Amino acid sequence: MKIKKSIAIIGGGAAALMLASHIDTNKYDVTIYERNNAVGRKLLVAGDGGFNLTHSEELEQFISRYIPSSFLEKSIRSFTNTDVQQWLKSIGIETYIGTSKRVFPIKGIKPIDVLNAILNVLKQNNVIIKTLHTWAGWNNNNELLFQINNETIAVKTDITVFALGGASWKVTGSDGGWCAFFNKAGINTLPFQASNCAVKINWEKDFIEIAEGTSLKNISLEMNGTAKKGELVITKFGLEGGAIYALIASIREQLNEIKSATVFLDLKPNVTLNDIKNKLKSRGNNSISKVLETELKFNETNILLLKTILSKLEYTYSTILAEKIKHLPFNITALAPIDEAISTVGGIPLNEIDEYFQLKQLPNHFCIGEMLDWDAPTGGYLLQACFSMGYFLAKKLNA
Ligand SMILES: Cc1cc2nc3c(=O)[nH]c(=O)nc-3n(C[C@H](O)[C@H](O)[C@H](O)COP(=O)(O)OP(=O)(O)OC[C@H]3O[C@@H](n4cnc5c(N)ncnc54)[C@H](O)[C@@H]3O)c2cc1C
Repeated sequence: MKIKKSIAIIGGGAAALMLASHIDTNKYDVTIYERNNAVGRKLLVAGDGGFNLTHSEELEQFISRYIPSSFLEKSIRSFTNTDVQQWLKSIGIETYIGTSKRVFPIKGIKPIDVLNAILNVLKQNNVIIKTLHTWAGWNNNNELLFQINNETIAVKTDITVFALGGASWKVTGSDGGWCAFFNKAGINTLPFQASNCAVKINWEKDFIEIAEGTSLKNISLEMNGTAKKGELVITKFGLEGGAIYALIASIREQLNEIKSATVFLDLKPNVTLNDIKNKLKSRGNNSISKVLETELKFNETNILLLKTILSKLEYTYSTILAEKIKHLPFNITALAPIDEAISTVGGIPLNEIDEYFQLKQLPNHFCIGEMLDWDAPTGGYLLQACFSMGYFLAKKLNA
């Protein structure tokens, strides 16, 4: 009888679970080692407020959302956004496409149901899960070391797949602490930085006391020629929401370079500058605020925001006001702390791995998921990338 090779998958998140679901266990003995007392904790956190399992936009456009998109193209094409929906359906998780084109589990299916459905696949596939095993590097014989309570054990394996996650929401187990072991083995890592996170704005005290917690709806945000329509929430810290998350990569780059970044808000993306100018010019005896309320359907927050950011002269001079309504600058001074971010960039640089995510310096050692240095907006793209990488590697190892 042919002896099976062994695969150790370290970390039990989205990428690991998809890999383990598709690996051929007639060929391999597969064990997942997870530090927590259960796998999939971040998956459950992700499901807490709007579980975007993937996004349904057209594939070419979908692939272009990733930075760099060339890195993930093959994996995403091998297991597309449509494939994710079909696979989930095949394991009993029906999904629907929301108005934002994001893909959610249908009403009544909770995040834990999604996780349990995947775990059921793993069970049928004879994958072993060892929890409370914290990976702690290698010993001199190149065996994997795991800490279990105060004990350290060594594990010999033929193939190792790291799926250790990024470094936000440390409470889920993904703390990026593993970088030290890679560095010790001569593998470079990049510092983690926040992505898909709130940005810091130094609001005027009078403004934030009134506006905290309110939303700017149906707006568009622009930076360096890229505009994103959506919604923003005003918080004490600054701004958060889909429109800002989509621009985070450019914002982060500018903050790294010059410690501040400017984004421009269009409060009325569906109304032309000329139309706004005309409405303001023909206001007769009405106050500006009245015209903004009645003609442009501005709410209290919109008006307060304009009054806060603009000088009195800019607010009362209709041509300037119209221009600012379409192009209102916000000065961003920082990103939210890493631990509060939805995802992180940094970790293993892409030049450390080959096209199958194998570490160039350590043959038969692979890295998948958020622990690699790629970026994507929230809205299903993050989980899709992790799922696709897991699937793609499984197919490679099965071949
Ligand atoms: C609040 C929030 C909401 C989100 N919402 C969405 C969403 O709606 N849609 C979307 O696409 N994405 C969302 N994401 C992002 C998405 O959840 C992650 O990108 C994805 O889960 C990353 O998967 P992963 O497998 O790479 O890593 P993780 O899921 O982070 O898993 C890594 C695992 O490795 C384990 N581990 C770490 N170090 C060790 C060690 N030394 N030894 C053993 N085990 C270790 C960790 O405990 C963890 O279980 C959200 C994230 C957050 C925080």
